[in-house]
Amino acid sequence: MVTPFLDDAKAIAPEITELRHAIHREPEVGLDLPLTQGKVLAALDGLPLEITCGRALSSVTAVLRGRGAGGGAAGSPGGTVLLRGDMDALPVAERTGVPYTSQTDGVMHACGHDLHTAMLVGAARLLSARRDDLPGNVIFMFQPGEEGAGGAKLMIEEGVLDAAGERPVAAFALHVGSGLLPFGLTASRPGPVLAAADTLRVTVRGRGGHGAQPHMAADPIPVACEMVTALQTMVTRRFDVFDPVVLTVGTFHAGTADNVIPDTAAFVTTVRTFSAQARDAVRDAAPNLVRQLAAAHGLSADADFVDGYPVTVNDNAETDFAAGAVGAVLGAHRYLTVPNPLTGSEDFSYVLEQVPGAFVMLGACPPDADPATAPYNHSAEAVFDDGALADGVALYAELAARRLAADN
Ligand SMILES: [Zn+2]
Ligand SMILES: [Zn+2]
Repeated sequence: MVTPFLDDAKAIAPEITELRHAIHREPEVGLDLPLTQGKVLAALDGLPLEITCGRALSSVTAVLRGRGAGGGAAGSPGGTVLLRGDMDALPVAERTGVPYTSQTDGVMHACGHDLHTAMLVGAARLLSARRDDLPGNVIFMFQPGEEGAGGAKLMIEEGVLDAAGERPVAAFALHVGSGLLPFGLTASRPGPVLAAADTLRVTVRGRGGHGAQPHMAADPIPVACEMVTALQTMVTRRFDVFDPVVLTVGTFHAGTADNVIPDTAAFVTTVRTFSAQARDAVRDAAPNLVRQLAAAHGLSADADFVDGYPVTVNDNAETDFAAGAVGAVLGAHRYLTVPNPLTGSEDFSYVLEQVPGAFVMLGACPPDADPATAPYNHSAEAVFDDGALADGVALYAELAARRLAADN
């Protein structure tokens, strides 16, 4: 059963656009998104879905049980595919000037998750309408807390991967961009597609004193400075240039006055890696380097490596499959294999650690803007074009239906 969903998606585009605007007007941040959850539940009402809501977060998990050939008797599983759409906004004060602009001060859907939510609702509608042709199950994963709160991990802990009674054979997520990609172009790559983003927190502990008598004190500032440069040396000397590590000291604080040696100096570093191997190695090497440098100068250092999101790794076969789905529903010229991963990160990585799948980007830059200069995701001026909605709805639906058909 493979049917082009684009016409169906265009037919419901006005309602999906209205839903997207309603979500955009009332953005919510983090794990608790009651207004957004309410809109999703209302939009799914009446569809033949098994719906459960999260406990630790305001997620919505909806399962559609197909009844198509290959799926056996009604309701019996014939393979399951998971589709993820994230729902949370960002603490950004919107400056787009769009008519459906945020009505909540200081909060904005600046990463386009309002589009993902609306697209996933649209796909649930299209696939529900073709339930009798669908040879398996679809899990619709409406996820809060992508922007740092790890909502995907919590949903996994609450059982989203087992919502249909069996593990999904594949999982897919779409992500819109307000720039970079031209409108309507999709992009992905096999293997690592987004970075792991971890944090190294360091406090160098010395002994304060008079700035004119450093030998009577234990000055943490020069030692902390040495650590900053030593960490960069570590990156270039101890890591493979083809499996890169990006390490940026983003804050550095010490001291109160020119003639006072402080007790401590502290800095915080973001660490981006693109493989589990490099991540494990830097998790070990960076805190060791810092502690041993402190010891070499007769000081001590607290070094905490705090895990963020893992590397987002696309499965090779599922990425090929997704490219084929784009070709079927939008045309092969609308798919681009990007040469390098992006240095951002995503908690869909937790899903892809357990289920093979693919994360696919979708260009939603306004067609009259230049994607090279258009304000990008997380900008207060980022505009995501409604024209991408029908494409996203159709692609989500196609990914699920086509993947189930491939397995039956
Ligand atoms: Zn984001
Ligand atoms: Zn995002």
